[in-house]
This record gives sequence, structure tokens and C-alpha cells, in this order.
Amino acid sequence: MSKFFTNRLNNLVPYTPGEQPQDKKYVKLNTNESPFPPSKGVLDAVSNEVDNLKLYSDPECVVLRDKMSEIYGVEPDWIIMNNGSDETLNFAFIAFADDNSPLVFPDITYGFYPVFAEINHIPYEEIPLSDDFSINHEDYIGVNKTVVIANPNAPTGKFMPLSHIEAIVKSNPDNVIIIDEAYVDFGGESAVSLVKKYDNLLVVGTFSKSRSMAGARLGFGIGNPNLIADINTIKYSTNPYNINRLTAIAGVSALVEQDYYDKNCETIIKNREWTVSALTDLGFEIIPSKANFVFAKSGEIEGEKLYLSLKEKGVLVRHFTKERIKDYNRITIGTLEQMQILIDKIKEIKGEMGL
Ligand SMILES: *Cc1c(COP(=O)(O)O)cnc(C)c1O
Repeated sequence: MSKFFTNRLNNLVPYTPGEQPQDKKYVKLNTNESPFPPSKGVLDAVSNEVDNLKLYSDPECVVLRDKMSEIYGVEPDWIIMNNGSDETLNFAFIAFADDNSPLVFPDITYGFYPVFAEINHIPYEEIPLSDDFSINHEDYIGVNKTVVIANPNAPTGKFMPLSHIEAIVKSNPDNVIIIDEAYVDFGGESAVSLVKKYDNLLVVGTFSKSRSMAGARLGFGIGNPNLIADINTIKYSTNPYNINRLTAIAGVSALVEQDYYDKNCETIIKNREWTVSALTDLGFEIIPSKANFVFAKSGEIEGEKLYLSLKEKGVLVRHFTKERIKDYNRITIGTLEQMQILIDKIKEIKGEMGL
């Protein structure tokens, strides 16, 4: 830290993104990206847009929001597009949380929530997950705070039924409830179906996971137009052109070719079941997952040791050092070939350890 760094942010510990190593080619199962390329139309759409890069992008993302409206079944003014769902989350925290409406979220969840809270000087409280890593929805009933819940949760993959989400939303009418649905397309149930009923529900989503566009940075928020207008106030006070032209047009093409992504999600779900069964056979304990990853603990190999050994063998998974979850690794579900390599390498490691 330089001597110029503001005291205002003394406590800020930045988010640690998953490794994106450039040294060699890994079987990359550490950041929940899709193993599949974007759909066919995306390439043409992006190429044809290159000429237009001389012009600013459309801050309102009109074409993209029209297409989103068809897919998600709400009018365009119920939708905002941002540079990844991370940005939507940050904007929503800025807009809706403060000393009087502090944040609450689980102790084990997406690592960016406390960072966004810290940088925006928003107080926050972490509520422990149950012993089985489920979110106890009763902990959030009538808390009178700004609630943020990832559903399915990360890095556990555990899903909370929509009835529980609805109970939380209903019992906190004076606060915004933010549901982060980064992984909902892998077997969850979306709360978008509830936005017409509750003016305090904001659903956040992304093209990074199920739509193979992590590198394009495209995310969204869906909620009552009054909430969307508030988030737009923050967006237009930060960077109205937050979606660049190539990303916007790629997003439109992706939505036109939605069937392709739906099929990919089915494949990932099948590969997830295959992986769960293979890991179980190897003595792993796995949290039931509705996401494109599994959170797995070996009964025999320490979490960090497994992560490092796999890395040495060219397979990257994600290990967290937080005490409560340090025995686990979060493993992204890729192609069946990738998952077979993972299993083979774990068998090798066990063999080398004499297990
Ligand atoms: C990946 C992820 C995001 C971030 O998605 P981007 O759209 O790539 O910014 C948000 N929330 C959770 C829980 C995630 O796992």
C-alpha cells in the first residue's frame, strides 16, 4: 500500500479471483466457467459489429433488453444490464444498503459480498449456515435488513426452495432482498417468477456461467421498475457505457440461440451426477449441488493438499482457506472427458499416498 492510499479504505481486503494461469494448459475446473464455446451466431454478430466500435455503446441496451424480455417474461423496464452480475450487485448494494439498512448474508457464500460492503462503507452481518451447509431461511425472516442470498449458494451448490425465498421477501417489506442466481440454470428455480408480486425483490443473473460468456462480462438485474430505476441512477453516475458493443451483440445472439445453452446445461447436470457418483466411490463427501460445480471433501486427503497435488498434475480446482470449509474443494463441472481426467488424477494421488 502506498502512503497515498486513502485511510477511508484501510479495512478493504480485495476479492481473490480464481487463478487464470497462463503458464501451461490446465484442465480448468476452478472458476465455474462453461467448458463449451459460445453459440454459433455469436462470432458473426461480433465480427459484424467491429465497424461500429467507433461509436459509443447504447447505455440502455435496448435491443438486448427486448430480447431478455422475451426470454424472462417481464417487460424491458423490469431489466437492467450491467458489466457482469458483480457490477449489478455492487450497484444494488450502493443503491439499497446503508447504516439504516445494513446487509445480511450467510457466513459461507460468495466472497465478493463483504468486499462490496466494505468498499461502500455498508455495515454487514454474516449468519452462519447450518451444520449441513444449508441456509436456514428462518434466520432471515423479518430481519429488517438488506438480504443477499446466492441461490444456489456458492461455493456449496446448495439450493433453497422458492417458498423459502418468498417467505424472506414477504417478511422484509421495507428492505430489498437480493437473490443472486448465477447458477440457477443448472437445476434451481428462479425467483424471477416472484418479481411482479413483490416490489422489494431484485433477482441478479449472469451470462458468465450457463451462457459461456465469462470473458465478455455481461450480467443483469430483474425487479420492479422502481428498483431498476434506482440501479440505473448508480449506473449513470458511474459508467453508462458499461456494456461494450461486442458484449451487447454477443448477448443478443446468445439469447436467440438459447436452446443451445439449455442443452449444454442438461449436459453439465448429467456430468455432475456422473462426477458425484465417481467421487463418492473414491470416499468423498459431497454437498448436494444444483450448480455447475460440486463442493467435495475427501475423507483422507486434506483440502489444500488435494488442491496442490491436482494442480501439479495439471488439474485446477478451487480451494478456500476459510476455517469452516478448508477441508473442501470446489470443483467445476466440465466435459465428461475433463471429469474423467479429474477422477484419474485423484486415483493417482491416492495411489502415491498409499491410500
Ligand atoms: C460467478 C458469480 C458471480 C459473478 O458473475 P459475473 O457475472 O461474472 O460477474 C456472481 N455471483 C456468484 C454467486 C457467482 O458465483
